[in-house]
Amino acid sequence: MRYFLNFKTSIGKFGLIQDIEKKTLKVYNFNSCCKIIFRDNMNIIVCIKQVPDTAEIKINPHTNTLMREGVPSIINPYDLHAIEAALQLKENKGGKVTVITMGPPQAEDALREALAMGVDEAKLISDKAFAGSDTWATAYTLSKAIEKLGFDIILCGKQAIDGDTAQVGPEIAELLDIPHIAYVNLIKELGDDYIIVHRLMDDGYDIVQASLPVLLTVVKELNVPRLPSLKGKLIAKKASIPVITFKDLGAQEENVGLQGSPTKVKNIFAQTMKGDRKILEGDIEKQVEELLEVLKNLKCL
Ligand SMILES: Cc1cc2nc3c(=O)[nH]c(=O)nc-3n(C[C@H](O)[C@H](O)[C@H](O)COP(=O)(O)OP(=O)(O)OC[C@H]3O[C@@H](n4cnc5c(N)ncnc54)[C@H](O)[C@@H]3O)c2cc1C
Repeated sequence: MRYFLNFKTSIGKFGLIQDIEKKTLKVYNFNSCCKIIFRDNMNIIVCIKQVPDTAEIKINPHTNTLMREGVPSIINPYDLHAIEAALQLKENKGGKVTVITMGPPQAEDALREALAMGVDEAKLISDKAFAGSDTWATAYTLSKAIEKLGFDIILCGKQAIDGDTAQVGPEIAELLDIPHIAYVNLIKELGDDYIIVHRLMDDGYDIVQASLPVLLTVVKELNVPRLPSLKGKLIAKKASIPVITFKDLGAQEENVGLQGSPTKVKNIFAQTMKGDRKILEGDIEKQVEELLEVLKNLKCL
């Protein structure tokens, strides 16, 4: 059922169309011919990852997985841009922003930071069953949670600064069977059932349109993330953050955690610096000859 209303104000003539089934409110400005669509039910999901606040990633030598314990953590920097984009979409078009993360209990800190920035809800996906997840198992688990929450737009960072694969976003989209657009640096237009964005390329940008629901991975050029406000911090401190466990997801056991991870890490090691060095002396031509000889012996030439 649709309701229509036209009215005149000092700044122009407007028309409103409310669609009860779609839960949309369209606002037309007849003077500028511009159309704004508000959707009460626009579900925006932001996937954030808590990452170590250090370049020194520690590896568990027995399991070959990242060790997070004892390392100060932050929200993956690209994910802050995803949160900012979600908040701007909500401010301009209406809807609800939910932030999710899959991680250990301490990942709750990242969710509180997102709440302080102004997101509506936060959910922690955490269970021993998820430990050791590779990118596929991570994407599978996140996609199951997103299915339960409902979604129109899913925002992810371009990549995580620790794992660095940039796989999780596109994998979630594949598992949910929805389109995805990676490396988004501008959201140009959001319609009732479509989105138009700019996708950053090496030599410029592509303009891409996709139907909703859609998943976007975003780059830092998209926006400047806002700082948490004092009011936001107070809300975040008191907020309760529900934990979604393996049981809640209706996921298949063989698809989660280490056993659900097709990637097998054979060996990870920190490169050790060798102290061998040789200083060449004498006239420059002799040094070049000697250097070439050394490089040939090392099979570099
Ligand atoms: C066999 C194996 C076992 C592993 N075990 C562990 C482990 O026990 N603990 C561990 O921390 N890592 C583990 N990892 C690393 C883990 O797979 C990746 O860190 C994780 O899947 C995300 O990949 P990425 O960091 O490359 O993220 P990317 O694909 O680079 O991230 C892109 C975007 O996806 C979203 N995203 C990524 N991860 C999450 C998340 N967890 N929650 C919400 N959104 C997310 C964010 O928006 C992020 O910006 C393991 C990897 C392998 C191969």
